Amino acid sequence: MAFELPLLPYAADALVPFISAETIEYHYGKHHQAYVNNLNGLVPGTEFENADLETIIRTANGPIFNNGAQVWNHTFYFESFSKTGGKKPAGPLADAINESFGSFESFTEQFSKSAAGLFGSGWAWLVSEEEGKLRIVQESNAGNPLRNGLKPLLTCDVWEHAYYIDYRNRRPDYIKSFWEILDWGVVMARYR
Ligand code: MN
Repeated sequence: MAFELPLLPYAADALVPFISAETIEYHYGKHHQAYVNNLNGLVPGTEFENADLETIIRTANGPIFNNGAQVWNHTFYFESFSKTGGKKPAGPLADAINESFGSFESFTEQFSKSAAGLFGSGWAWLVSEEEGKLRIVQESNAGNPLRNGLKPLLTCDVWEHAYYIDYRNRRPDYIKSFWEILDWGVVMARYR
């Protein structure tokens, strides 16, 4: 069965002025689509022909890992936004953030620093370990924490293609905007 590009849960211009419709057109419409197409071209005739993305992320290497993880990472990233985002977490996730990072403000500061300081292309992640303790991790290129047995809760794509149309080289400004559209309802549901 072929992998497919999932539909976005919002219109292409829903995240304006933080992420433009043009960025969605390229980042989702071209880059995300290309990873799907590449993966569909790579898996036939391999042991991953009928594998799901999680299996590919945990066990594949080379181009099949790179494209499979990028399909998963982008779906997870795009699903984290909404027009009405930018609020704060509540409940068990808010408690875990306070326990792991001191406060919500301290968490966003540490996460932003990690995303801004990631050298080259990659992803900053908030993950939970066993026992529910939270951690911020950096992954280069297509890296995904599932490979290390961690549970991803949210991610920020810091490949230049994620922000160059809207922010040029100003990655920290893109990260500032990331918080304005992040849907904590989605992130809280992942923590359960
Ligand atoms: Mn990307």
